[in-house]
Amino acid sequence: MESRPVPVDRPVESGHSNRLSLRQRFYLLEVLVGLGVTAHHFFANMWRHTLHTVFRVKSARGAVTIQYPDERRPYAPRLRSLHRLVRREDGSPRCVACMMCETVCPAHCIYIIAAEHPNPEIEKVPERFDIDLGKCVFCGYCVEACPEDAIRMDTGILEFSSYSRAGMIYTKEALLALEPARPDGTPTSPVPIPPDMRPS
Ligand code: SF4
Ligand code: SF4
Repeated sequence: MESRPVPVDRPVESGHSNRLSLRQRFYLLEVLVGLGVTAHHFFANMWRHTLHTVFRVKSARGAVTIQYPDERRPYAPRLRSLHRLVRREDGSPRCVACMMCETVCPAHCIYIIAAEHPNPEIEKVPERFDIDLGKCVFCGYCVEACPEDAIRMDTGILEFSSYSRAGMIYTKEALLALEPARPDGTPTSPVPIPPDMRPS
């Protein structure tokens, strides 16, 4: 059935007129008030910047602009950033290739090939462990599911990119090379550069 708009009669509130006064129609006073607010913030920020930069008053902070990438906004401690594989003391992966993370991953972006571990006390080791970050939705399920605490998302690295889909696949070696971020979330490892973005 075709739907039709229903006309609604809106009552005019007492003491309120829909007509703008002459002063409101020119907006002159409102424009001047707006300019005053802008000028107030401009000069107040400039004064705080001067105190901070010239007179080294560390507590005086000007506008809230973050000078990224030289300056980074502190990240929340629970932020999920680029994955890393945790290493044992001998540098080998803590991962035992149990496939729990691969199974739980809703984006199907973890690819593991298991191999026998040289140590008979450890059953398996990942011969290959790839994460396709082009598909990852950063849900953190892989971290939650891991029984060995072998995968974490605490590198603080968020600026990874690539020119191709293949470049978004991070290998076991790349993930093992990453370190946890500092307590304020600043990365300690450089952002991994995929092969297609390396200078030739
Ligand atoms: S964060 Fe989620 S989507 Fe990404 S690899 Fe882990 S389980 Fe898969
Ligand atoms: S869940 Fe943990 S131990 Fe199992 S394959 Fe994934 S990273 Fe390795």
